[in-house]
Amino acid sequence: MGRWERKSGGTGGRCSERQPGVSARAPAGGCRRMAALRVLELYSGIGGMHQALKESYASAEVVAAVDVNTLANEVYKHNFPSTPLWAKTIEGITLKEFDRLSFDMILMSPPCQPFTRIGLQGDVSDPRTKSFLYILDILPRLQKLPKYLLLENVKGFESSSARNELLRTLEICGFKYQEFLLSPTCILTRFPDQDLEDLFTDKVADKVGEASSSLSSEEKYLDPNIGPDGSSKKRLPKGAFLFKLETVEEMERKHDQDNDSSIQMLKDFLEEENEEMSQYFLPPKSLLRYAFLLDIVKPTCRRSTCFTKGYGHYVEGTGSVLQTAVNVQLESVFKHIEELPEEEKLIRLSALKLRYFTPREIANLHGFPLEFGFPDKVTIKQCYRLLGNSLNVHVVAKLISVLLG
Ligand code: SAH
Repeated sequence: MGRWERKSGGTGGRCSERQPGVSARAPAGGCRRMAALRVLELYSGIGGMHQALKESYASAEVVAAVDVNTLANEVYKHNFPSTPLWAKTIEGITLKEFDRLSFDMILMSPPCQPFTRIGLQGDVSDPRTKSFLYILDILPRLQKLPKYLLLENVKGFESSSARNELLRTLEICGFKYQEFLLSPTCILTRFPDQDLEDLFTDKVADKVGEASSSLSSEEKYLDPNIGPDGSSKKRLPKGAFLFKLETVEEMERKHDQDNDSSIQMLKDFLEEENEEMSQYFLPPKSLLRYAFLLDIVKPTCRRSTCFTKGYGHYVEGTGSVLQTAVNVQLESVFKHIEELPEEEKLIRLSALKLRYFTPREIANLHGFPLEFGFPDKVTIKQCYRLLGNSLNVHVVAKLISVLLG
């Protein structure tokens, strides 16, 4: 592998699990070191990329942000009022208009649904990929190539045809590029003082690989302390039990992460409990119906699952819920619970005082600063949707710094 500075690259995170991304740098020449970089932010949403650019302290100015989502645009304007915001489709922008912007850098987060595991994986045939293919078509035809490009997407993108098309275009244009599959906990807390380059040693790559393979595993074993081959597993606490849909590997991974003191605890990201919190508690119906599908975390945990845009609305697989009654043992609640009548089940489950994370808390976990806000008219559900589409600001900020090296 070439020197890191010459082969910059990176990704942000659409969610708190791993996300791949590509960043690229054009061949040397015409570097405008002194002037502020002119940045084009495509698929700008609520402005996670812009926020990251700010955090990176790069001398840069977003000359245009483009998104079709009216509500996301309201939030963007609320936070970045002086940035020109183009409320239109990317396919609706002509080559001439792009040329006129004369940008040095593109930051972009194309829609991830065509590439997610739970999506249909329509890839390039998904209509939502059309605008991305349009950008790839435009890129080589620009009067002036941008010097830098950073793309963020989800795990799944790395094996897509869209990614192959991107790399083909980057090669045609003479970009050097690098791709990463990153987890915010790896980058931000586990190795805070390390260079990104060091992160991609075999050791860490193995770690990420290990975690992601356990995510896709569908095996189920009843006793978490007995491996699939009958071997005894020592890492889990005595009395540990498996949730219905949880694999032994997932459980071990969660347990290991919760015990890794280099990672910040969730409590650092939480709001103070107050009366307004009552609206976030899980209703009895959800408790009874989805108890076994919930990913329950305590304030002292150091992990959560990815908060997606259905959070607070769909229960399964959209993000963790918080156990606020911290002294209640999960084991005691769930032991033989399936044998109990509904009312007793509910009494047990209610003892956990489970609530959703608030939008502010998710924004905190995504690395948005406190001054980042939502206009009053945006509902809680809408906040979840918008945040679920966004990314980890700290990860992207770090990648921008590395890219600009
Ligand atoms: N990084 C952003 C979110 C990206 S999600 C953030 O921090 O919020 C993808 C965004 O692309 C969505 O906001 C969606 O409205 C927008 N989008 C999807 N297709 C588009 C198109 N063809 N033209 C413009 N915007 C589009």
